[in-house]
Amino acid sequence: MIRTIPEDAAERRAIRPVICYPNHTLPDPDLPGLQAVRLTARKSGECLVPPREARCFHVPAGHFFRITSVEGPQVGDLNLWSAADPRERFYSGKTRALHGTHLTRGHRMWSSFPHLRPMATVTEDTLEWYGIDEYGGSVHDVIGTRCDPYTHRLLSGQDYHHCCHSNLVNALMAEMGLSREAAEPLVHDVLNVFMCTGFTRDTGEYFMKASPVRPGDHIEFFAEIDLIGGLSACPGGDCGSAHSSDAAACHPLLVEIFAPARPAGRAEPGPSVYRWP
Ligand SMILES: [Zn+2]
Repeated sequence: MIRTIPEDAAERRAIRPVICYPNHTLPDPDLPGLQAVRLTARKSGECLVPPREARCFHVPAGHFFRITSVEGPQVGDLNLWSAADPRERFYSGKTRALHGTHLTRGHRMWSSFPHLRPMATVTEDTLEWYGIDEYGGSVHDVIGTRCDPYTHRLLSGQDYHHCCHSNLVNALMAEMGLSREAAEPLVHDVLNVFMCTGFTRDTGEYFMKASPVRPGDHIEFFAEIDLIGGLSACPGGDCGSAHSSDAAACHPLLVEIFAPARPAGRAEPGPSVYRWP
């Protein structure tokens, strides 16, 4: 087959892009209001996620939860489920379509169809300063999926049992008393907390680079609905070289829950009101 470049190729390429999902009609997250409520909050629980493992935690609606890097640079893979029905879970792809490839303060984590409501709002991000670097990389992505034993097997022919997918399945099984068959389909594409990623400009391939996170850095969320969270301390550590192996230096991640002294005074978001004909 002869592949020819059309004469007007340059003109076609020069067409300006338009944003697929203009998001100015999304409900205002009211960050100043949430900040005022946060000032009244006291720590009500915590959970330390060991390296190369995952843990689940509960966050009641109206509470805050914070993920903090401790000891050393570490990436975390975050899943969220509705505590009322774990079939409603974080929808990474639609969140990406609404907010962009990386999340920061003011962005929401949206739930799966037919609900499509905010599950959590990012209220604080100490890595907000990073922005987008010269490679097109940024922090806290919703483009990667999660490291998993199937892709690892496909690419390397090896079995590895502490991928974030495996860790999240195991944590959910322990948390909800589920079999692997019941838990595995509930594990979903993640928010890659602290991970620095992008797409190469020349080939469009997904890349990672050493996370800029340092101990003390954190990202904090307001729980819009009752949540079960699952967090895996990725076997890739800071994801500067490899994942899906025991090669990288790994560190724990700290999850803390904060209970406000007074409610945020905002209605819990309901599921989408779209009705099929
Ligand atoms: Zn991972």
